[in-house]
Amino acid sequence: LEPKEEFDHSSLAVDVMRPRRSDPALAVLTQDGMTVGEVEALVESTHYSGFPVVVSPESQRLVGFVLRRDLLISIDNARKRQEGVVSASTVVFTEHALAQAADAPPPLRLRGIMDLSPFTVTDHTPMDITVDIFRKLGLRQCLVTHNGRLLGIITKKDILKHMAQIANRDPDSILFN
Ligand code: ADP
Repeated sequence: LEPKEEFDHSSLAVDVMRPRRSDPALAVLTQDGMTVGEVEALVESTHYSGFPVVVSPESQRLVGFVLRRDLLISIDNARKRQEGVVSASTVVFTEHALAQAADAPPPLRLRGIMDLSPFTVTDHTPMDITVDIFRKLGLRQCLVTHNGRLLGIITKKDILKHMAQIANRDPDSILFN
């Protein structure tokens, strides 16, 4: 991201984050309780590069972030090699799996592929600070929270689009680096 003089210093993370009001809800995974089949359906019904992991849909407390490609590779490997992993297996991002029925298929443990400390800003963080963090840490995405609850996500492209809108230019004319 190049420093742009025309960057609007008054915008906040909440103005740039997705989902926008009219968009479908943020696509999230829960730390336990989703099945392999449900995770596959979510990943396949979207094109997002990654998914926040939350404690539960009700709490929206952030646990981590998983990349789409790591999810797909791990599920694929587990289906091929891991004894008994099927669509009904529970996907577990916690350290310890919840007790399961004796006849339940073995869980698929995916804590190892989760980023446990994804970068977050609050909804009221000014965008010039967020852009600075993206540049300095080389982030590809950052999560947005309000009172500890996950609200949305900002990707590098979202920032470039926002800058282009402000500069009233074609987003494709802005160089990515
Ligand atoms: P990029 O912005 O580089 O295309 P993505 O493909 O991950 O990256 O995201 C596409 C759009 O969807 C972006 O506007 C981003 O903010 C949004 N987005 C990314 N991940 C999610 C998600 N899990 N749920 C909802 N929207 C998302």
